[in-house]
Amino acid sequence: MASSPRQQYLRRIPAVSALLEAPAVRDLAGRLPRTVLAAAAAGVAETLRREILAAPDEAALAGIALDLDAVAGRVRRRALAQAEPRLRRVVNATGIIVHTNLGRSVLSPAAVDALVRVATAYTNLEFDLESGERGERHEHVADLLRRITGAEAALVVNNNAAAVLLVLSALARGREVVVSRGQLVEIGGAFRIPEVLAQSGATLVEVGTTNKTRLADYEAAVTERTALLLRVHTSNYRIVGFTETVSLPDLVALGEARGLPVVDDLGSGFFVDLAAGGVGDEPTVQQSVAAGAAVVTFSGDKLLGGPQAGIIVGRAELVDRIRRHPLARAVRVDKFTLAALEATLQLYLEAASALAEVPTLRLLTLTEAALAARARRLARRLRRVAADRVAVATEPGVSQVGGGALPTAELPTRLVSLRPRDMSVSRLAARLRAGPVPVLGRVHRDALLLDPRTLLPGDDARVAEALAWALGEGGRERVQ
Ligand SMILES: *Cc1c(COP(=O)(O)O)cnc(C)c1O
Repeated sequence: MASSPRQQYLRRIPAVSALLEAPAVRDLAGRLPRTVLAAAAAGVAETLRREILAAPDEAALAGIALDLDAVAGRVRRRALAQAEPRLRRVVNATGIIVHTNLGRSVLSPAAVDALVRVATAYTNLEFDLESGERGERHEHVADLLRRITGAEAALVVNNNAAAVLLVLSALARGREVVVSRGQLVEIGGAFRIPEVLAQSGATLVEVGTTNKTRLADYEAAVTERTALLLRVHTSNYRIVGFTETVSLPDLVALGEARGLPVVDDLGSGFFVDLAAGGVGDEPTVQQSVAAGAAVVTFSGDKLLGGPQAGIIVGRAELVDRIRRHPLARAVRVDKFTLAALEATLQLYLEAASALAEVPTLRLLTLTEAALAARARRLARRLRRVAADRVAVATEPGVSQVGGGALPTAELPTRLVSLRPRDMSVSRLAARLRAGPVPVLGRVHRDALLLDPRTLLPGDDARVAEALAWALGEGGRERVQ
């Protein structure tokens, strides 16, 4: 009895054992574990089965390649793809400089060297070479932080969320913390000031309104239960229009009159005042310290441009209490963070070297002329690859700082726009993400926009390769 064509096709799918013996797959045997090869072969066989069952007609069935060599080629590609690291390099063409989903800051070469040095040898992480006794891991960066910020003492923990939690736990547990309603911010889904306060065991006392908080509101809220006044920098949004906030010096004056420390959560660690260069109004850490904030907290990997870290600077007696709190051990940093942070901070001893060598600051201060030149070069290169399949042009646009910093800063840039002629723009974007080095841009209406501001050295070539792949091999192969 003749079976249906579909069943005949199903029977022609090569067996896993045959696929493992095919040259294209056997060739990988020395490089990849047999379990990975077997799983790839079984996976491809299953995909073929589904493709056959889903084929609408005989023509579609005939288009499915089932000969051993073709299927073994698919197995080989799948096995190699599975052996790739999951955490991969991507090209950030979004123009968002501190992109939390893309790993925030890229480290300077000096920080990378420092990382390699401590990763491949024993270090004096907690060893005092002078006395020959146990040392303090924080001391390696504390000196630099004191010199750069003017604070008496410093401590580094895992990230700024941990820094805020630790500071509040150490200084305000069981007591009250006064915060303006205009500063009860959420930074990323899981970090909300009221919830962090609750976690720390402190009680939140809200004062003022969303748009207006006056000194008198704070004065009325202070009682003998108050532990501290907390100011939170509204890093990822601005309240504009009919507004009033209390300046840090005024808050500090009130704190001094009542014997209360002011804790300033700055979010982004900004050491170099860029307002002169026309970039935003972000307060610097030095300004907070000079204004008299008793404790200032900020991130290491936002505008500071270093590794993920939460940095706490402030009065010696308070930083000491924070350091001795049991939570400090739970959120401590490792040697990699300390090494990369020390090397990054060293660059800040001179503003010019920070601007030239800290990638985050370099991208932030790129000139429009430099961006326009890079956009023209990239467009020319992509036109050669795209031929007549994609219209490539340049157009004015704006980059973003990202990472919850300078939310209203408009950084003028020159974008490269890609308008595909034989596929949708979302399909082109998907293929560029699926290539050997994923390229991430911004889809706006009918165009995929690439911002040269966040392209790193060598990325132009990666984008060109990705486009060639997306229009060629990547277009033929199903995006898995
Ligand atoms: C970003 C930010 C945080 C959280 O910092 P992480 O380093 O991401 O943990 C806390 N407070 C403010 C004001 C921030 O901007």
